[in-house]
Amino acid sequence: MAAPGENMRVNADRLWDSLMEMARIGPGVAGGNNRQTLTDADAEGRSLFRRWCEAAGMTLGVDRMGTMFATRPGTDPDALPVYVGSHLDTQPTGGKYDGVLGVLSGLEVIRSMNDLGIRTKHPIVVTNWTNEEGARFAPAMLASGVFAGALGLDYAYARTDPDGKTFGDELKRIGWVGDEEVGARKMHAYFEYHIEQGPILEAENRQIGVVTHCQGLWWLEFTLTGREAHTGSTPMNLRVNAGLAMARIMEMVQAVAMEAQPGAVGGVGQAFFSPNSRNVLPGKVVFTVDIRSPDQTKLDGMRAKIEAEAAKICAALGVGCSVEAVGHFDPVTFDPTLVSAVRNAAEHLGYSHMNIISGAGHDACWVAKVAPATMIMCPCVGGLSHNEAEEISKDWASAGADVLFHAVMETAGIVE
Ligand SMILES: [Zn+2]
Repeated sequence: MAAPGENMRVNADRLWDSLMEMARIGPGVAGGNNRQTLTDADAEGRSLFRRWCEAAGMTLGVDRMGTMFATRPGTDPDALPVYVGSHLDTQPTGGKYDGVLGVLSGLEVIRSMNDLGIRTKHPIVVTNWTNEEGARFAPAMLASGVFAGALGLDYAYARTDPDGKTFGDELKRIGWVGDEEVGARKMHAYFEYHIEQGPILEAENRQIGVVTHCQGLWWLEFTLTGREAHTGSTPMNLRVNAGLAMARIMEMVQAVAMEAQPGAVGGVGQAFFSPNSRNVLPGKVVFTVDIRSPDQTKLDGMRAKIEAEAAKICAALGVGCSVEAVGHFDPVTFDPTLVSAVRNAAEHLGYSHMNIISGAGHDACWVAKVAPATMIMCPCVGGLSHNEAEEISKDWASAGADVLFHAVMETAGIVE
């Protein structure tokens, strides 16, 4: 038997036009966007989104983190809403689609329901989370983190940008401090549609990524203490070389990640040598190991192995070793019912699809702590993102929006 509304699609042209119109706000220097959170450009983007939502008959609520919730009522006043959304803020040299696609596809779902006279039992809420990117105010996914109860409101308000301005003051300045308590809303479901930001879907020639998990991570900051000494006059057997210890630890991290295949990554992206002089053995080396996996046991096992092996490496060289966990996110398993709704929608619509794991963090990863949640992904050219050259095709954009449309209809319940 055919699923209800099997052939219904969103309006691909209208979705694309809206993406292009939003991209005119906060233009970058190379065809992308610089619409960082709580800037004047962000305020302008928010106003445009509000106008569009109101024109589509929705009512807007705003919480004390400035997150925007535009509601289309359902027929059952007691039914919890189905939420869709992502973020309109960008990196300083960001693309036109990262985040924006998810918010504006949510809006397009509402516009299409209006066009087709579709009513749902559950209300539908289109969401724009404040400061997903974290480029201006670290950490990333700040508002959804507060929403999920993982971060405090005072902590968020006190975050500072590179100019020393606080999140709280800047939110007030652009006029988007709402009156809703953060996290008070209860969700029947949350769907986030996002570009993949990686190369897998394009390489596999699939239109839709059915996102089953979000990777967890540990950032382990190592401080190695050796002895500063002349590189020319210090005999090899008398050196306490913190740099050598780092090199051996980097090799070991690679080996640990390879042993944990598939479904694990690990590496070092940042290192500081002190005094960082050509002819001085480093007395101090600070570097960060980044390990990730969607599997909690594997992730924690990698961490334990790396710390134990690093201690041995350093002991053998007489180098002091201390480790601090400076970043952490538990892996997320998305809600199986919602994951199935996404997969079924792709099937009904005849779109090629595959299961995929989100390699990056998203607001959905925090929301999943407090509500059933999942994500939908579409390919992006060359896997490129956080780059002004980020690109997707109109067909890719609308295929994912169609899947969102159908998954939302199934979850929100169509009223005949
Ligand atoms: Zn994003």
